[in-house]
Amino acid sequence: MGVIHQVNGSRGPAYFGLPMLYGIAWLVCAFVALDLTQGADGIAAVWPSSGIFVAALLHFGPRRRAMTAGWIAAASMAANLWAGSGFFATVGYTIANLLEGYLVFALMGGRARTNMMLSKPWNMARFGAAAILAGSFSALMAGVLSGNLTLAFLSSWMSTVTLGMLIVTPVILFVAQDPQGHRNLVSLRALWTVMVVAILSIAAFGQADIPLLFLPVMAMAIATATLGLSGAAAALVIIATLGSLLTAAGTGPVSRFFPVTETQVLFFQLYLVALLISSMPLAFLLAQRGRDLAEIAETARLLETAERTAKVGHWRFSPLDNSAHWSREALRICGYDDDAQPSLEDWFDLHHEDDRARVRSFIVEATSHALPFAFEARIRRTSGEIVHIDCRGEAEADAKGRVVALFGTIMDVSERAETMRQLEAARARAEREAAEVRNLAETDPLTGMPNRRCILANLAEAMDASEITGEPLSVAMIDIDHFKRVNDEFGHGVGDKVIKQVADILCDEAKDSDTVGRIGGEEFLFVFPRRRAGDLCVRCEAIKERILAADWEEPVEITLSIGVAELATGWDERDLMRAADRALYEAKRAGRNQHSVHQS
Ligand code: GH3
Ligand code: MG
Ligand code: MG
Repeated sequence: MGVIHQVNGSRGPAYFGLPMLYGIAWLVCAFVALDLTQGADGIAAVWPSSGIFVAALLHFGPRRRAMTAGWIAAASMAANLWAGSGFFATVGYTIANLLEGYLVFALMGGRARTNMMLSKPWNMARFGAAAILAGSFSALMAGVLSGNLTLAFLSSWMSTVTLGMLIVTPVILFVAQDPQGHRNLVSLRALWTVMVVAILSIAAFGQADIPLLFLPVMAMAIATATLGLSGAAAALVIIATLGSLLTAAGTGPVSRFFPVTETQVLFFQLYLVALLISSMPLAFLLAQRGRDLAEIAETARLLETAERTAKVGHWRFSPLDNSAHWSREALRICGYDDDAQPSLEDWFDLHHEDDRARVRSFIVEATSHALPFAFEARIRRTSGEIVHIDCRGEAEADAKGRVVALFGTIMDVSERAETMRQLEAARARAEREAAEVRNLAETDPLTGMPNRRCILANLAEAMDASEITGEPLSVAMIDIDHFKRVNDEFGHGVGDKVIKQVADILCDEAKDSDTVGRIGGEEFLFVFPRRRAGDLCVRCEAIKERILAADWEEPVEITLSIGVAELATGWDERDLMRAADRALYEAKRAGRNQHSVHQS
């Protein structure tokens, strides 16, 4: 029986293999039944073969069903001819044997199912009704085809066929459809169980002095508890085999109470059906529970693996009873021990002090409005390590909208946070360095004011703006008078200081959108957007006066010459600079320490 579960969809020669095995089993059971329990009416008193055929039909796919029917037809012919039935009666019995099986099969839905069809109480009841119907139909047909329509023949055929199905089919199907269970049948525990069942069966049926028919009920319970569904099936086979052999041999309480074989057999079979029906619900539950537990354990294992791989854990807090559930990964992320179940308050406390209030407000908000939540925060593990988490979840509400629990996931995003931090630091550094480089490129190192490049860029910008707006634009070119003398008399260091001090005064004089920069040794350029050259005299005077009034470190005499020019139509930058230069030259020529405006 151990290979029966492989039937559906298994490959191999279809004529032989399992269909043939079913045929042989059918034949053996028929011989044993006919030989051992043949009643006065010529019908076997026990007919397990009918159950074998129905089991095959309910379990096999279409091809194997047909093959098995073929083998069983041959077996039926052989068994009945051997038992001395006439050819036509044999053909009739055979047709009846086949049709009864197909009838049950059709009544059960006409489709093979490898799932636990008979494990559902409703299907079991339906099967019982189908077996009774098929048994009656089969008896009628056998009676008609063999010309034997006596009540004794009909009732005897019907009961043996029906009970044969009721007892044998579930046993085969249970074993066939419980692969996990029948692996248990090959174990030391199974050996002990079989021995106990056998001893209890012999105790019940091997003597008639004390009525001990309750012992096999105990045996069934023991087998079911130790080996599950397959254990119950195996126990029933043992009890049926030993019970029928001992009863047929004339020992035991059944033969003591019922002297007539038919009544003995009928009682015994009803006894077995009762045994089966009373023990199967427990066996089903046990088998189902085992499967459910295995499934739950597997699901839990997969969930744990998924959480570990994704670094995502989950928790659930119930405000009703203050209970907390934490997944292992959630505990690991937060740095708790595997067996800890921290409360919501514990979890709040775990957060970084700067994040605690925010996290609490998220949770309170979600709880009071039954809303989903999502936030990022930092937690401080008991080891002191800071972990960045992404937490999201929702409040679970009952039908009345009352929040019964909070469910949340915690993802360890420390790596992401660290990457973001590094990126941010790199970005800030790059920005700083770029600003420094820009500054260096645009700043005159001695004076700290805009260098030639920068002030000429300002000028170009101002010229563009002037062109667009049509507003005037003027420049002033400034040169320190007789600066060579400063260098010559006081040295370059003093010269540098003077240049710096002049630059500071010029920068201080730059108002509003005016800009000033150093364009050469001791030369500077002022850009005056929106100013006419004629309006700049006051500014030039003010600048000169501040220079004259300045305190110099050394007793130097510093004056400035200034050349002012205004942008004329059609001029480019060079034209404007040249005009300012010419005006400067004019100021120098006119005696220095003065300004001159370019006249176009
Ligand atoms: P003027 O402009 O009035 O005609 O006479 P000047 O003596 O200023 O003549 P010029 O403009 O030809 O000479 C400028 C001098 O400034 C030449 C150079 O040695 C000096 N100079 C240029 N750049 C620097 C500098 O960065 N530091 C110092 N100390 N001197 C500089
Ligand atoms: Mg000069
Ligand atoms: Mg000069």
